[in-house]
Amino acid sequence: MTVKNWQIKRDMAYPYEEHRPRKQWAIVFDLNKCIACQTCTLACKTTWTSARGQEYMFWNNVETKPYGGYPLAWDLRVLERLGRQDWAKNGTYGGKTIFESAPANERALHWAPSDEDWMYPNVGEDDCAGGSVGAGGAAFTTMPHDKWFFYLPRTCAHCTYPACLAACPRKAIYKREQDGIVLIDQSRCKGYGECVRACPYKKSMYNPYTRVSEKCVGCYPAVEQGIQPQCVVNCIGKIRIMGFISPPWAARDDNPVDYLVHKKGLALPYYPQLGLEPNIYYIPPMHADRAYLAQMFGPQAEGAIARYRELAKDPVAQGLMVLMGSTDRIIHSFKVEKGEATGFNEAGAELTRVPVTEPVVERAAWDEGASATRHNTP
Ligand code: SF4
Ligand code: SF4
Ligand code: SF4
Repeated sequence: MTVKNWQIKRDMAYPYEEHRPRKQWAIVFDLNKCIACQTCTLACKTTWTSARGQEYMFWNNVETKPYGGYPLAWDLRVLERLGRQDWAKNGTYGGKTIFESAPANERALHWAPSDEDWMYPNVGEDDCAGGSVGAGGAAFTTMPHDKWFFYLPRTCAHCTYPACLAACPRKAIYKREQDGIVLIDQSRCKGYGECVRACPYKKSMYNPYTRVSEKCVGCYPAVEQGIQPQCVVNCIGKIRIMGFISPPWAARDDNPVDYLVHKKGLALPYYPQLGLEPNIYYIPPMHADRAYLAQMFGPQAEGAIARYRELAKDPVAQGLMVLMGSTDRIIHSFKVEKGEATGFNEAGAELTRVPVTEPVVERAAWDEGASATRHNTP
């Protein structure tokens, strides 16, 4: 079949007909703010994957780029197999997707991680690129710094064109009409592991105890109640917002995810060249190597960083950034006026209201009410 993929600005081959759900689950992450505290990882793990057979299963993980990867070197291995990935100047992807480069009798280009590949979720953590670190440690001698790394939090992307779904011979994987969440029907799955091999992001995982495959469920029970997923609401850095993304031709300016992705072009899908139309979107880190970012986020990365640097001049975008992490509810629409950002639910009721700029309050050294001197305690 031929389907439309807006992220690579062209039609592409996919085993099933194009069918977009009524709403599409999506998360936006600001990579400039992630501190790799792994609170998201543990929030997911304690909620969903603490049973037998799930010891090494992290539906949400945070890896240090460029050297970290869970499972080991997942991205390097898929990019190497894919071969050249050229983009035209107008943003159209000229190379092949994983569906278009599938071997004969296969649905997607694939590889299967070994058990050992899953055993080191923190490998490469805090390792920097861009010059060696000597015995005396690292020193930043240039501006911008020549040494760099960044943290990349990852969940299943509940792709518009999931490779896991395409590859499943049992048709045990389905994409929900009401929110676009991709689920594995545990009663249909026979544990063949085709989804594990096919998902290039390696977000479908095999459970050797139950002998079926499992993956991030998008926290659908919470989403059905209008609540954001566990890995989002527990994010210490407030770097995430979950909502519903529209395709670009139906984007709404008052939808937070549409605004960040379509209107401002601040948040980008990762490895769009793979062809899955993944629905997790990243604001690229400003200080990382530009060639690496172009490989990961495509040719729009440079522009996204330039716009991020100009954020202080855009009160609406700034207001939206402070709405991130301000409520556990799903914000369907927002507005910024009179120095305040407000988020609303699907019915239009107010969920949260925050000042765009936190006021600075200077208190007198002497507290009249308490008849006491105020101290700053170091
Ligand atoms: S909780 Fe937030 S800040 Fe911490 S690692 Fe996860 S995404 Fe990054
Ligand atoms: S990220 Fe992988 S597991 Fe998740 S929907 Fe896409 S192909 Fe499937
Ligand atoms: S959306 Fe839910 S299930 Fe998926 S990674 Fe986040 S916490 Fe885990």
